[in-house]
Amino acid sequence: MTDTKKIKKILRLLNRVYGKPERFKSEAPMDVLIRTILSQNTSDTNSDKAFAVLKANFKSWDALLKSNTKMISRLIRSAGLSNIKAKRLKDALSEIRRREGRIGLSRLKNFEIDVSLNYLRSLNGVGPKTAACVLLFGFGMPVMPVDTHIFRVTKRLGLIEKDIKVEEAHNVLSRKVPADLIYDFHLGIIEHGRRTCRAQNPRCGICVLYGLCMFKKKEYYRKKGEKS
Ligand code: SF4
Repeated sequence: MTDTKKIKKILRLLNRVYGKPERFKSEAPMDVLIRTILSQNTSDTNSDKAFAVLKANFKSWDALLKSNTKMISRLIRSAGLSNIKAKRLKDALSEIRRREGRIGLSRLKNFEIDVSLNYLRSLNGVGPKTAACVLLFGFGMPVMPVDTHIFRVTKRLGLIEKDIKVEEAHNVLSRKVPADLIYDFHLGIIEHGRRTCRAQNPRCGICVLYGLCMFKKKEYYRKKGEKS
């Protein structure tokens, strides 16, 4: 089976079990950038809370840039690593302002995807996942953000090599997954990683992707599930 056929089949099966993923409300690219920086190394619940606090306290991202780093750090405490993230936010805003003459990323829509990725990745604290999130969720560009769930599950499914680096996985999956399916595939695999293909004790016995999976220990976990 080709990778494209396999990816389409995976998505069909995931949609059958979890329902078609609900797309996020579309957001301005700057909002996606701030939200994604806040989400680094924490849960969506914690980072969503911090993002809401910033929105409630600042009328614009210009206002945030002008404010004191310590104060920002206090406001985003729920997101964790708040001193580091407060500095990252200010650095990113300040650099965007310097490059664009204002705080906004709309110019990126005119660039090639690789140019936009490089632009974003050259900002302090912006790695491949954050850059890909801004392009996918802020601009609707076909780029695959690879978080810990996507990395683990696609590896087990044999869509990326076992020894691949996460950085390279962004490029491989962005090329392999058909452009119009990237958004749904991203959300579907994350759901599967959270609910079934967990890092520890994956629930292989009830997994709809069992027949498509290349994970060596799937048989072991299937039997373990039967006993428990
Ligand atoms: S069979 Fe197990 S390892 Fe493979 S995708 Fe399903 S839950 Fe994950």
